[in-house]
Amino acid sequence: MNKSIAVDGPAGAGKSTIAKRVAQNIGYIYVDTGAMYRAIALYVLRNKIDYNDELKVGENINEINVTLDYVDNTQIVLLNGENVNDYIRTSEVSNVTSKIATYAAVREKLLDLQRNLAVEKKVIMDGRDIGTNVLPDAFLKIYLTATPEARADRRYKELVEKGEDCNYDTILKDIIARDNQDMNREIAPLKQAQDAVLVDSSNMGIEEVTDTLVNIYKEKESL
Ligand code: C5P
Repeated sequence: MNKSIAVDGPAGAGKSTIAKRVAQNIGYIYVDTGAMYRAIALYVLRNKIDYNDELKVGENINEINVTLDYVDNTQIVLLNGENVNDYIRTSEVSNVTSKIATYAAVREKLLDLQRNLAVEKKVIMDGRDIGTNVLPDAFLKIYLTATPEARADRRYKELVEKGEDCNYDTILKDIIARDNQDMNREIAPLKQAQDAVLVDSSNMGIEEVTDTLVNIYKEKESL
């Protein structure tokens, strides 16, 4: 059996923060699949391709090469060879990502890449369809969620801390819109895998969620 760990859940549930910490704790490689979708969205935006036009995005898909690299344990996303880590976290990219992630050509492109990563190494991979679609035989599956309000509140505080101008209601609206898009798309929608462990982090801090996941992993290891 594959030893990989799948962490799925909605936007802002803390998947990347937690998965990174768990990876360090148990000696796994952290793979952020959302960053791969974000890199494709960035390409679409930079090249002024109409992101609502599935055919147009599909026609350009072979021009887009997304790869991952690791520097000091940090995942670097390369878009046609360029490190784009600093450009893929804007709210514009987030919203376009959610749209282009509904397209078959985009999902097919990234699926093999993600599966191959898990063959080569022990990975903890976060996304929306990892337990249900990318790694159905994962050793452990976690569905990490929190209420939309708790997720919006975290995002709001994060942005305020960075000194960015933001509005709680807009953030909450964006989160709900992304949830809808991710949960209701035709291909590989976000949902809890039947064999995933549900963790609701609404009232938990980072340490507590990390410890919870590490304990679930250790328990499973000892069986
Ligand atoms: O996880 P993150 O917020 O960076 O993901 C950005 C978007 O990429 C998600 O809202 C979702 O639409 C898409 N995504 C996906 N499948 C994944 C990972 C991300 O559809 N495995």
